[in-house]
Amino acid sequence: MRDIVRGQVFLPGDDGFEQAAAPWAVGVRQQVVAVAEAADADDVAALVRYARRAGLTVTAQPSGHGASGDVDGMILLRTARLDEVAVDPVERVVRAGAGTRWGQVLAATGKHGLAGLAGSSPAVSVAGFVTGGGLSWFGRKHGWAADSVRALEIVDAGGERVRVTARSDADLFWALRGGGGDYGIITSVELDLYEVPGLYGGRIAWPAARTGEVFEAFLAITADAPRELSLWLNRMAPPPPAPATVGIDVTFLGEADAAEELLARLAAIGGSLSDSRGPMNVADLGAIAAEPIDPSPMLARTELLTELPVDALAGAELAPLLNLQVRHLGGALAEERPDGGAGGALVEPYLLYLLGLRLPHLAEAVRGKQAALVAQLGEVVSGRKPYTFLAPGESAAQAFPAEAAARLARIKRERDPGGVVRANFPIHETGGAQRG
Ligand SMILES: Cc1cc2nc3c(=O)[nH]c(=O)nc-3n(C[C@H](O)[C@H](O)[C@H](O)COP(=O)(O)OP(=O)(O)OC[C@H]3O[C@@H](n4cnc5c(N)ncnc54)[C@H](O)[C@@H]3O)c2cc1C
Repeated sequence: MRDIVRGQVFLPGDDGFEQAAAPWAVGVRQQVVAVAEAADADDVAALVRYARRAGLTVTAQPSGHGASGDVDGMILLRTARLDEVAVDPVERVVRAGAGTRWGQVLAATGKHGLAGLAGSSPAVSVAGFVTGGGLSWFGRKHGWAADSVRALEIVDAGGERVRVTARSDADLFWALRGGGGDYGIITSVELDLYEVPGLYGGRIAWPAARTGEVFEAFLAITADAPRELSLWLNRMAPPPPAPATVGIDVTFLGEADAAEELLARLAAIGGSLSDSRGPMNVADLGAIAAEPIDPSPMLARTELLTELPVDALAGAELAPLLNLQVRHLGGALAEERPDGGAGGALVEPYLLYLLGLRLPHLAEAVRGKQAALVAQLGEVVSGRKPYTFLAPGESAAQAFPAEAAARLARIKRERDPGGVVRANFPIHETGGAQRG
């Protein structure tokens, strides 16, 4: 492998191997046979051809935010050196290398008053985000991030470099946009950018005693929010003696006055502990949720909800969980787009995210609490999960309706019969999200 790949290769036993093989998601074990850092796109192609000849499998992992642990015996491909970010403000498109993170991309697009469809964390890679669909702060207005992909440059499972567009290869273009990383190794992505007429955002928090009022306001505002407005509710339960709080994270594509009018119900609650809301730059989007940048043992479970069970969510005892988050979805996300990718229409209006820590003494209790809360919600849990929110032990089948899952399985079979390329949550022959 070292004769073929120009970037650095780490093998078990080498100095630095353990560190090179560790994902961002602390506590997820990765028993890979090698870690290869590609020098450029040709290097990726050389690695894939090598793996094909050697009967090995390559799995790309720019950051390890989405690590599933399902990588034993594979070659882990690091893409940090594919770090190109080229903005064309006239064509409103950014070309982002497979190693780039959202923070880098937004810093570059923000200078032109343009935004890509980023999510909450600036440390997540653009390639990993869009292959899984990508739920953005601006998804209610513009849909899945994957549906804003214009073109991808990939190395296919045969080791050839190919540019994939809707015209060049409709099936593969559809699968790569939301179906996960199973159909080739992306080397760069071209993404639509959107004009930002003004951006308002931030977080407001109250003492936990206000939880009921905040849920009621959240429900009322999200019932008829315009697509420019996105609200996420957070119940924060840090370990004592830190106080429990309840908060709202918000973005609005528009002016502050209009945002504050739409959010008048929040102002009426009073007694807030902190409030960072105001006009902001696109480049600072990651500051709203302020998620950890450094590797973290976050252990989350995500569910999609067909409606918001306020009493159950507002009243639930959270310990040992640290955070219960509800994201408002809907808008463009709920619409079927004829030119869209594998995610299709995401009809559930709310996403529930239950977060604890994957620490040896806590993980079992965290999983137990997550399961108990979900069971208590019963029928409002749809059973589908967005691909980018799948957690170790879950399956790609949970992310797609049966028809899309079958199409993805067919494409995988046709394009990579030998299984040379592998996603964190691979596509298998079974398919379809099911309730329960
Ligand atoms: C703190 C935090 C916040 C998050 N916020 C959001 C959010 O707001 N919205 C959202 O939708 N998701 C969110 N996620 C989930 C995140 O988008 C996914 O885990 C995503 O897959 C991470 O991509 P990554 O490349 O950084 O991670 P990695 O674990 O490095 O990669 C994940 C997978 O992406 C695929 N992949 C990556 N690069 C390539 C490539 N070059 N070619 C082919 N396949 C590739 C591979 O299958 C890989 O296993 C969040 C996750 C965390 C931990």
